[in-house]
Amino acid sequence: MYTKRTRPKILVVGGGIAGFSLAMHASQRFDVTVVEAEFQPGYHSTGRSAAVFHIAFESDTIHRLSLESESFFLSPPRSFGTIAASLQNMMIARDEERDLVDSFLDTWTSRCPWLQRLNGTDIVRHIPVIHADFQDGVLDSRSLALDVHSLLDGYRRGLAANGGVVRTNHRLVELDDSKGHWRATFAQGDTLDADIVVNAAGAWADEVAILADVKPIGLIPRRRTGLRIQPKVEFKSWPMCYRASGDLYFKPEGSSIMLSPVDASDSPPCDAQPELLDLAVAMDRFRECTTLDIDRPHETWAGLRSFVSDELPVIGFAEGHAGFFWYAAFGGFGVQTSPACANLGAELLNGNSSPISVDIEVTSVSPRRFSVSQ
Ligand SMILES: Cc1cc2nc3c(=O)[nH]c(=O)nc-3n(C[C@H](O)[C@H](O)[C@H](O)COP(=O)(O)OP(=O)(O)OC[C@H]3O[C@@H](n4cnc5c(N)ncnc54)[C@H](O)[C@@H]3O)c2cc1C
Repeated sequence: MYTKRTRPKILVVGGGIAGFSLAMHASQRFDVTVVEAEFQPGYHSTGRSAAVFHIAFESDTIHRLSLESESFFLSPPRSFGTIAASLQNMMIARDEERDLVDSFLDTWTSRCPWLQRLNGTDIVRHIPVIHADFQDGVLDSRSLALDVHSLLDGYRRGLAANGGVVRTNHRLVELDDSKGHWRATFAQGDTLDADIVVNAAGAWADEVAILADVKPIGLIPRRRTGLRIQPKVEFKSWPMCYRASGDLYFKPEGSSIMLSPVDASDSPPCDAQPELLDLAVAMDRFRECTTLDIDRPHETWAGLRSFVSDELPVIGFAEGHAGFFWYAAFGGFGVQTSPACANLGAELLNGNSSPISVDIEVTSVSPRRFSVSQ
């Protein structure tokens, strides 16, 4: 275990929500520098998310990490300000999709007893423009709308308060550990030495591993599209709404409605851009389940959600590389699990192999699970 007197140096590669949240926690004990390739932290996945927190989400592990993050969002450190607002979340289903609602409730009711089954009358009471053929649904009254910009900035300020540093426009291009510590070289030619490299490079995490001569984890970035429309109807009090069929969600966001066709096309790591077809599909699906005749979107974007085969995050030291720490594969849950994951990551960095901050099997998120299965 490290002590405050020795303050080993950590280089965090990636200035998204993952890199910043872990950096803030780790900087209590380590001398931390975050490097970000872009001029703007959060430019990639983090700045493109739907900014929602769901408790009944994905899998038992993601559910637990989310649940343990909830109190941070509701009562963050004072310097973060307000980063979450209450948001209701409504699933809607046609008659022939009733089994999807049954199966959702079978999976989640015991963990989330506040979930409420809805009928058609309930659904139009929440969103009057939903078509009458949606007669079944579920209301989750314990979701949150997150302010990702304030969250990221809060982590950044927490890091700075502990003496940590952020360097933007710093793309890591080379990593060398032949002298017993890491020497990182950046695109402009400058270098930085560190004891531990944290790989929080989002969709580029496998590329960063290759720079370090560490075996990649088989990360697959998948594109997800978002768009905003401004229909002439009062929508500010609507819940977030998603189809049980899993191919559309929409939610009020200030003066717009954000929608997504819930696409997940494989992509290389890149500055993701929306495809016209995905935008058209989203608009069509929205028209199909509401009585609104919507025109063109006023804003469109896409971002990457990066997964490994079991769709769980990868957190921990690489097998055989004591100075290389994985912090990647945050899929579609990296914002909402950032408080719990960062606590866990900081404990592992600190040498605690049995962390107490989270109620999950640490082996389920360890990078070592890939070597065991081979
Ligand atoms: C449309 C959409 C909706 C989403 N909705 C939600 C949601 O509602 N709730 C939720 O929790 N999550 C959501 N997500 C997922 C969430 O956005 C991600 O899980 C999260 O942002 C991942 O954060 P990250 O820091 O790992 O990646 P990123 O934010 O991509 O950060 C990684 C950073 O590493 C930098 N980098 C890469 N290579 C290098 C290098 N060589 N040198 C230096 N820097 C480098 C990149 O420039 C990048 O800024 C959504 C994602 C999308 C696309």
